[in-house]
Amino acid sequence: MLNTPNEEHLEYICKMAFLSGLLVTTGWLTVFTLMQQWTIVITLLMMGAGAFVSWRIAVRGNFSAGLMLAQAVHLVYAIIFCLLYDVPEAGIPRTTHLYLLTIALVGFINYQRRHTLMQMVLIATTLLAFIIFSSAELVYPFAHPIPQRLHLYLPLVNAVAGTVILCGGIVAMHTDFSRRSEKIRAIQYALYNNEFVLFFQPLLNAAGQINGAEALLRWQQPGKGMVPPSEFIPDAQRAGLMPAVGDWVIATALRELAQWQSHPATAPLTLSINITVDHLMKPDFVERLIHHAGVSRVAPSRVKLELTESVFASDIDAVVAKMNTLAAAGFRFSLDDFGTGFSSLNYLRRLPLEQIKIDRSFVSGATENRKGAVIAMHIALMGLELKLEVLAEGIETVEQWRLMQEFGCTAFQGFYFSRPLNAGDFRAFTLKNSAEKPDSASGALSPAG
Ligand code: C2E
Ligand code: MG
Ligand code: MG
Repeated sequence: MLNTPNEEHLEYICKMAFLSGLLVTTGWLTVFTLMQQWTIVITLLMMGAGAFVSWRIAVRGNFSAGLMLAQAVHLVYAIIFCLLYDVPEAGIPRTTHLYLLTIALVGFINYQRRHTLMQMVLIATTLLAFIIFSSAELVYPFAHPIPQRLHLYLPLVNAVAGTVILCGGIVAMHTDFSRRSEKIRAIQYALYNNEFVLFFQPLLNAAGQINGAEALLRWQQPGKGMVPPSEFIPDAQRAGLMPAVGDWVIATALRELAQWQSHPATAPLTLSINITVDHLMKPDFVERLIHHAGVSRVAPSRVKLELTESVFASDIDAVVAKMNTLAAAGFRFSLDDFGTGFSSLNYLRRLPLEQIKIDRSFVSGATENRKGAVIAMHIALMGLELKLEVLAEGIETVEQWRLMQEFGCTAFQGFYFSRPLNAGDFRAFTLKNSAEKPDSASGALSPAG
C-alpha cells in the first residue's frame, strides 16, 4: 500500500486525474454511443479498462509500475485515435495528439520520484509521437474518420480539455515540488536545531534476556509531536540528506552506548544502528565511524550496522569491500527486513554478515496459516544453515515468540517485549529487568504491557 504522506498526496493527484479522465471518457462514450460509432465506443471502453487495471496496480503498492502502465495504455490509444479516427480534413486539424503532452508530464512526475530507464523510454516515445503527429498528416489507409458534424467541434474540445489537464498537471507537480522542498528544508533545519531523537528498542537473546538494542530515529517536530521515520526518511533519502542524518544518528547512538559502559546491566549490550546504503558508500564513512567510536571510546564489536537488502541494488563489489574493511575494524553487520527486498540470495555468501533479521511480515504470517509458517520456518532454517544469527522482528504475541523459537530463531525484538523507549526509559527498563528474577517458565524478561 501507499503509505508515506508524499505517496498519499500523489495517490490523491492520480485519483483526481483518473476521475477527470473518467468524466471525459464517459462524455465521449455517450456522444459516440448516440451516434452509433461502435468501433470508437469499443476502443474507448478498452482504454477505460486499461486505465482501471493501471489504477489498481498503482494503489495496490506498485505506484510507479501502475503509473507507467497507465501512460503506455493512454499512449497506445492516443496513437490509435490519431491514426484511425481523428484524421485531419480540410480546415479541421488533428488535435488528439495534444493529450500526449499530458502523458509525458505524468511520466516526468513519475521519473522525479523513481528514476527508471523504462520511464525515460516512455517519455521519449510519447514526445516523439507528439512531434510526428504535430508535423505530419499521417492518414492511415483503413482510417474510419469521425463524422464531420462532430469532427468540427473536436479541435475546440481537445484544445480546451488538453490545456486544462496540462495546467492541472503543472499545478499538481508544482504543489508536489513545494511540499517536498518545504519538507527538505524542515529536515535540514531539524538536524541543526536538535529536533531529532533516538529511541531504543530492546533485543533479546535465546534465553529471553536483553542483550542489545536497536537505535530508532524520531523527529520531535514542534507542533507535530513525535514523527516516525517512515514520514521523513524517504524524503531525506531522495534529497541526499541521509548521510548527514545518519552521521548524527551514529554520533548520538555511540554516545549513548558509551554511557551504558558505566553500569554492569547495560555494559555488555550491543547497539544496532540502521545505515542507508548511500551513507555507507560515502568515501569517508569508515573514517567517520571509526572517529565517532574513538571519541566515544566504544569498542567496534559492540556496534552492529543494520543494512537492508537495498544494498544488492548498488555496486555490490564496492559494498562488499567497504563491509570487509569495517568488519576488519571489528564492526558487526546485520541484514534487516530480510526477505522483503531483492532476493539476491547468492550475495549472502559474500557479505560479512553476522545476523539476519526476519521481517515482521513473515513473523505475523507464521501464526496466520500453514503457508506462512512454512515460509518463516524455511527463512529461519536457511539463516541457521548459513551459520548466521537469526532474529525474528516484530514479535507481538507469545504465540509468535514460541513459534519463532521452535523454528530456531535465537534473537527476538518486538512490542511483546517492549516498544522503542527513550534513552532514559530504556536504561531504566534494562536495569529493572536485570534486577528481576527471570520468568521461571521461560527464563525471559516480563513482557510489556
Ligand atoms: P527497522 O529497522 O526494521 O526497525 C524496526 C521497526 O519495527 C521500528 O519502526 C519498530 O518500532 C517497529 N517494530 C518493532 N517491533 C514491532 C512490533 O512488534 N510490531 C510492529 N508493528 N512494529 C514493530 P520505526 O521506528 O517506525 O522504524 C521504521 C524503519 O525506519 C526502520 O525499520 C528503519 O528501516 C528506519 N529507521 C529507523 N531509524 C533509522 C535510522 O536511524 N537510520 C535509518 N537509515 N533508518 C532508520
Ligand atoms: Mg533496523
Ligand atoms: Mg527491520
